[in-house]
Amino acid sequence: MKAIVYHGPGNKSLDDRPMPELKAPTDAVVKVTRTTICGTDLHILKGDVPTCEPGRILGHEGVGIVDSVGSAVQGLTVGDHVLISCISSCGQCDYCRRGMYSHCATGGWILGNRIDGTQAEYVRIPHAQTSLYRIPPGLDEEALVMLSDILPTGFECGVLNGKVQPGSTVAIVGAGPIGLASLLTAQFYSPSQIVMIDRDPNRLEVARQFGATACVDAGGQDPEAEVMRLTDGVGVDCAIEAVGVPATFELCTSLVAPGGIVANVGVHGVKADLHLEKLWDRNVAITTRLVDTVSTPMLLKTVRAGRLHPEQLITHRFSLSNALDAYDTFSRAADTHALKVVIEVS
Ligand code: NAD
Ligand code: ZN
Repeated sequence: MKAIVYHGPGNKSLDDRPMPELKAPTDAVVKVTRTTICGTDLHILKGDVPTCEPGRILGHEGVGIVDSVGSAVQGLTVGDHVLISCISSCGQCDYCRRGMYSHCATGGWILGNRIDGTQAEYVRIPHAQTSLYRIPPGLDEEALVMLSDILPTGFECGVLNGKVQPGSTVAIVGAGPIGLASLLTAQFYSPSQIVMIDRDPNRLEVARQFGATACVDAGGQDPEAEVMRLTDGVGVDCAIEAVGVPATFELCTSLVAPGGIVANVGVHGVKADLHLEKLWDRNVAITTRLVDTVSTPMLLKTVRAGRLHPEQLITHRFSLSNALDAYDTFSRAADTHALKVVIEVS
């Protein structure tokens, strides 16, 4: 089969690889129909993720059709259309029993990291019963690729951790796919303001179309001054960090109102300053989270009910044979205006 394989920092290629096989009775093998590329795949290609070793098939998002199932998997049969979660969960360890699938003792984020991933014609899924979701008939399967990672991430790490409520004021720093996923799902709760901050005017325009009440171009404007102006000088109840660099985390801590929450979503590679001398008396909380994908069943229902339109995030489509072009387009988002690029596998 064809697969996109990581060969060390800066190196990837479309290779021929053997078909995956069931290794445990709890596994399933899925014939991938659609997959996509995540910012995290670009982190891997930069060499930022040492757990991902050369020779690994990339990708942790996708939909497909069950091709074979292990003897211990209940509720899934060959031919079922399924959504693949970016997080594998056994459903039984202490972390899984607490709903913290991201820290599953024998799972977590392993796909396209510690084990071969979804940017291939077939993929082996461990703990299949609790890591795959059957797709109800009639849903746009391509759109559901956005539910493997980015929508649960934006919702759980940003909106749920940030405790967005009716009437809340929200600032989201970073209007990439993740920040936009937070923007879309924050609207479940009718916040009074959602201020998007980025320095890419195209992405801010997308954010405006997706429901942002105000957009701040950090390239030309002072985000802190703008947010204070928009909130009568108090700041926001919830500041969501969706970039992953020190400057944007520090910005979030300067935007948060007394009693508010800084919800960090970004993956950080270096230390950031924490200004406790300014924050100690402000009754704020700072949260971090690796996506658990516990909200996937709920998000599937909102898509089915037409309350959430994940297809809005798809800007480009490529075939698997042109997957290297897909990477090129995705990695030059400022020029190509790419948000999510779908790879059509079969
Ligand atoms: P992205 O790179 O596509 O988007 C980041 C956005 O931030 C871009 O639009 C960029 O223009 C903007 N930006 C960069 N520097 C800025 C600055 N100084 N001020 C304002 N805006 C700035 O990334 P993404 O795919 O949307 O992901 C966002 C973050 O979420 C990444 O760090 C990613 O690794 C992380 N992530 C976290 C989890 C999790 O479980 N916590 C899961 C998936 C992704
Ligand atoms: Zn577990």
